[in-house]
Amino acid sequence: MDLSIVFLGTAGAVPTIKRGPSSLLIIRGGDRILVDCGEGTQRQLMRSVGISRIGKVLLTHLHGDHYLGLPGLLKTLSLQGRETPLEIIGPPGLEEFFRVAHPIFGRPQFPLELREVSAGTASEEDGYRLCAQRTDHGIPSVAWSFQEEERPGRFHPDKAIELGVEPGPDFGRLQRGENVVTSGGKEVAPAEVMDGSRPGRKIVVTGDTRPMDELEAFAEGATVLVHDATFVTAESDRAVETKHSTAKEAAITASRAGAGLLVLTHLSSRHNPRLVQKEAARLFPESVVPDDLDYLVVPYPDKGRPDLSSGRYWTESAGWSAECEQV
Ligand SMILES: [Zn+2]
Repeated sequence: MDLSIVFLGTAGAVPTIKRGPSSLLIIRGGDRILVDCGEGTQRQLMRSVGISRIGKVLLTHLHGDHYLGLPGLLKTLSLQGRETPLEIIGPPGLEEFFRVAHPIFGRPQFPLELREVSAGTASEEDGYRLCAQRTDHGIPSVAWSFQEEERPGRFHPDKAIELGVEPGPDFGRLQRGENVVTSGGKEVAPAEVMDGSRPGRKIVVTGDTRPMDELEAFAEGATVLVHDATFVTAESDRAVETKHSTAKEAAITASRAGAGLLVLTHLSSRHNPRLVQKEAARLFPESVVPDDLDYLVVPYPDKGRPDLSSGRYWTESAGWSAECEQV
């Protein structure tokens, strides 16, 4: 199953010419999960994968740079004739916020399902779950994790044949966890012909936060950790004051959590992205700073390492979406 992340907006509270406010899209097979929706997100989607197939929106918190793209996105989806429900899950206060902001958001032409979570499993999907963890940002805020179920271990057809199983439907039964009986009357169990189960992939997005022990535990073993890196250490007092993290703090969390790759985001316009990356990489070498529209392919851990491609991918491939012409 393909899994990837499109970084739609990587700026901190103030956008720059090159970086928009927070948003990223997790794509797993046909599922599309938007995490945060800063101003301009819908155009970033149009420039890359399109906007129509978003199934869920996860919000980390209700600071404007994380949700101000929603009114426009919802309006466009309405104009496109969307009928399928859209679920928006966020921290406590989400429903009251939508009630108060109703005149701005308008009434979408499709069902909008709002749900508040502060911690724990928010959604069980086919093959993965979405979980929340409270974070430390001064207002109700959560980090999000996308966690796949374990996969069955590798099947060894040669071993099965050796035990007398004939290639065909019995191979499928063994791989689905069923015992089979050979033509010679011998019962063969899956454990005899398959390795132990393999972990699924895990993506954690912290949103804006100070470092926390609970967050390290939440991010444990993450294949990819997308972490707030608003500041560098030279401005660590600002990080404390505004309840954000420095690149170094993000690296410490990634290291303690045993993450595979650290993606630094929510960059302040005052810092050079290369210096942000360097500060983190001194402690955690597998650190990257994506540009807007960069695209991260996340293979199963036994199949390779996450691979970051340039946002130019979209203009050089069929990635350009014509949806913006359809309204
Ligand atoms: Zn914030």
